Amino acid sequence: DLRRKCARELSKLDADLYPIGAVVPLMESYHYKDLVDVVMNSMKELSDTVPRHLMGAGHPMIFALCVAMGCDLFDSAAYILYAEDDRLLSTRGTFKLENLQEMPCSCEVCTKYTPDDLRAMPKDQRRDLIAQHNLHVSFAELRLIRQAIHDGNLMELVEERCRAHPALLEAQRQLGNYTRDLEKYEPRSKKSAFFYTGPESLCRPEVLRHMQKLREMPKKRDLVILPPTRKPYSKFVSGKLGEFYIYGSEQELDLENTDFMVLDIPFGLIPLEIDEVYPLSQNDAPKTRDVDSIEFLEDFLNEFVEYYEQVLIHSRVIRNLEIGLYNKSISSEEIRYKKDDVKKVKAIADYQFGPGAGEALFSGNINIEKSKKTGKIRHVYDGKVLIVNMRASDSYLILSKEGAKRLHNAMQYPKNRVVVNKDSEPFALDGKSVFCKFVVECDEDIRANDEVLIVNEQDQLLAYGKALLGACEIEQFKTGQAIKTRKGMGK
Ligand SMILES: [Zn+2]
Repeated sequence: DLRRKCARELSKLDADLYPIGAVVPLMESYHYKDLVDVVMNSMKELSDTVPRHLMGAGHPMIFALCVAMGCDLFDSAAYILYAEDDRLLSTRGTFKLENLQEMPCSCEVCTKYTPDDLRAMPKDQRRDLIAQHNLHVSFAELRLIRQAIHDGNLMELVEERCRAHPALLEAQRQLGNYTRDLEKYEPRSKKSAFFYTGPESLCRPEVLRHMQKLREMPKKRDLVILPPTRKPYSKFVSGKLGEFYIYGSEQELDLENTDFMVLDIPFGLIPLEIDEVYPLSQNDAPKTRDVDSIEFLEDFLNEFVEYYEQVLIHSRVIRNLEIGLYNKSISSEEIRYKKDDVKKVKAIADYQFGPGAGEALFSGNINIEKSKKTGKIRHVYDGKVLIVNMRASDSYLILSKEGAKRLHNAMQYPKNRVVVNKDSEPFALDGKSVFCKFVVECDEDIRANDEVLIVNEQDQLLAYGKALLGACEIEQFKTGQAIKTRKGMGK
């Protein structure tokens, strides 16, 4: 509470950066778990517009974790202080020169000298060389982190780094309690695939987000749960599906009123219609399940079966989970998954823009055009009028002018909207990009890379485009671009 209060007061000052201090004792005693609590509670209140300096943090081993929490600047003296003490930094920890048999990296110092050479040197010369190594390692790690941010796989790097010490692993597990805070900054779609590196991956923002979206999705009467195949699952699920166990009230099967989902790590249940949407297919996990994963799947299953009247669970799913809730086995010729492109684009729209978007966007004489090369959906028309394009890399829908109009009509304010002030109205209508300082308000569920509607304060549609930032950033930033406008609605 005191950390939050302090951060709240700091945010009122017009400062160039915010320091987060009094953390050195925590780091020196390896209390990284407490460091996570300190930093995350400070971040809750600090403005997103000003860089944060984590005072006294200069060990490259924790840079990735701290950047993931929102720190921008680190200690500038650690490299020399460690060198004074004959200690060499690395992302795996600290090496004392007296214990070294091999030099720890391939920097200029480490390739030119042996530990014996250094030990034989006068103190000053040795310190300068170790300092040079320490700086090299620190900058190399910062470059790696910036590349990871660019590629969208910072959390994979954090998970890797936090395997270096049990105290760091504990810190990362603690960070799992702040997923909701981190999710606000997580882009909706990224270039890189989601890699499962251990049970901690199940606490990542993407998993939480999918779970929330899935809860909101419209549900049919029945649910069929299938074991994972190769991805995208919907491409490899066909023909007779095999033996099923029934949960819930047994009723005659109605395929029109049935959801088909695959149960897999790391996203739990994945409806076949939306399985190509990022990151539901763009992920990888070991086929051999760990105990935490099995528990995660069981919890997921136990929650979602309650939303349906009748659930048919594939025998292989039951076997892999070793759960005994379901007793009756049936083998039905009738249970078949039938691909339906219209259902698919509607489900993706509901998942992307919110329940109801699918029906609103795709009414009329729906006509779907696919890529001749890949067979993937490319464009969706009503007659000859384009409604959306589907992006090949992540299967997200990109609105056309007509699509934007339909979405705007169907979805209640402020859903999917960014509201701009009166001065910027003509620019927006003209298709010019929207800058943060002109935004009055926006839907709090907007995340970077979302397709959004740009409206004025009377909720008239001015333009549509792609968000470059998340809602909390758009609202706080006074400079910089918020939305890359695709098209203005014109005068
Ligand atoms: Zn080195």
